[in-house]
Amino acid sequence: MSRSVDIQNYINGELMAPFNEHYLDNIEPATGQIYGRIPNSDATDLEMAVKAARAAQKKWAATSLDARFQILNRLADLIDANSDRLAEAESRDNGKPIALARQVDIPRASANIRFFAQAITQFASESHAMGEIAINYTLRQPLGIVACISPWNLPLYLFTWKIAPALAAGNAVIAKPSEVTPLTAYLFSQLCIEAGLPKGVLNVLHGTGPSIGGPLTTHEHVKAISFTGGTSTGQHIRQVTAKSFKKLSLELGGKNPTLVFADCDLEKTIAETGRAAFANQGQICLCGSRIYVQRKIYDAYVKGLVKYAESLRIGDPLDTETQFGAVVSETHMEKVLKYVDMAVEQGGKILTGGSRHLLQGRCESGYFLQPTVITGLNNSSSVNQEEIFGPVCTVQPFDDEKEALALANDSNYGLACSIWSSDVQRCHRLARDIECGIVWVNCWLQRDLRTPFGGMKASGIGREGGVEALRFFTEPKNVCISYG
Ligand code: NAD
Repeated sequence: MSRSVDIQNYINGELMAPFNEHYLDNIEPATGQIYGRIPNSDATDLEMAVKAARAAQKKWAATSLDARFQILNRLADLIDANSDRLAEAESRDNGKPIALARQVDIPRASANIRFFAQAITQFASESHAMGEIAINYTLRQPLGIVACISPWNLPLYLFTWKIAPALAAGNAVIAKPSEVTPLTAYLFSQLCIEAGLPKGVLNVLHGTGPSIGGPLTTHEHVKAISFTGGTSTGQHIRQVTAKSFKKLSLELGGKNPTLVFADCDLEKTIAETGRAAFANQGQICLCGSRIYVQRKIYDAYVKGLVKYAESLRIGDPLDTETQFGAVVSETHMEKVLKYVDMAVEQGGKILTGGSRHLLQGRCESGYFLQPTVITGLNNSSSVNQEEIFGPVCTVQPFDDEKEALALANDSNYGLACSIWSSDVQRCHRLARDIECGIVWVNCWLQRDLRTPFGGMKASGIGREGGVEALRFFTEPKNVCISYG
């Protein structure tokens, strides 16, 4: 890949510069250096995309399921064929270890597309018989034009997670990737052309929230918004779309609890909960950043977690041996460090990490942080209540199941949790009572694309995944036929 990349929008099947020629710098987090430009699109580009999407949508909806299946599968095959290039781009753009991009981000992007290409061919809907009187059946029709807005932490993975069901269901899509990590969405646009995706069916507009996200969410022809990002952005989108009754799916922030009981397999639990705290530099909405440990094993667990954190190899994300890369931007690094300072002010003890990590050579100005473990804070501390979204976790002791549950639920967020125990009945009880959308028992981040994905409370509304996503991207219409 060339050192400097000028990204283009993808409108009506063509790659093009933003109409007003406004650009943002694209910065490589591992080096702190500018390596390309990103269009900062605006309402003019949006109008072109809407026009293209309107012209394409009905024909796309009328395309046979088999033809949609074939095109989407071609796209998935092209992702696989270009996986090395895409993984390198993701690693450079985001700061994540290239090994992680190769193992998770890119394979998952093609899996998303393949999954929904197949799922739409299996999508069925209900029929309700009324005895001798009538029969009802439910049509599920595409919505028209939908917006898909995604964040920077799993760029191509979450971009495709939204686009795939929207396209499979017969909608035209206007997608906006994060302006912080736009590169793989741009490369994906090129692959859409190669795959023969009809013009205008997918349009990709780059730029910031205020410049293009705002106009996109409020545009009269956009019928639904599938959004993944921060809770405050989600609140804003809900407010500005309230009057127009747009359909919304909001996947927002998390502050996920990890509950470790004395009867767990301690060695496995330390390794897996360490991964849950620090994978992708702690920048996964599902990361377990509030760790609660039964007092009997508290000391042993903390010792093990610190050892795990210190064992992670921090380095150049493009080095295949690196396990822990850069955080996504300087602003984000400063935000995470502010929370570490806050933890100290609030009486917390930093057991390991807590500082910027300096490397030599190519990455000497990169945004690297040390994996950080903090103890001694109570649950009401802002460090335990606010989403940090970085490599910082806290550990607190508890005595019994009741206390563990109360601590887990003492949060505005409700996305995910993990429970580590060999007591099956306890695990079921907690899974039932914990206020969150996803519960993992003795595992973390095991994903089956058929399951409902999403959170409650400040973690959002709606669910993605499997049939939930296909239902979101279609309008149910009941047809009642009288037997006469
Ligand atoms: P963000 O809310 O700042 O941005 C997300 C996207 O929204 C970006 O594309 C951004 O440009 C766009 N945007 C910003 N302002 C907008 C506006 N006014 N109108 C329309 N679009 C706008 O979030 P981020 O910093 O990119 O991502 C991190 C957040 O995402 C964290 O809170 C994390 O927990 C959350 N997240 C949630 C999930 C989930 O599934 N629940 C998954 C990944 C990340």
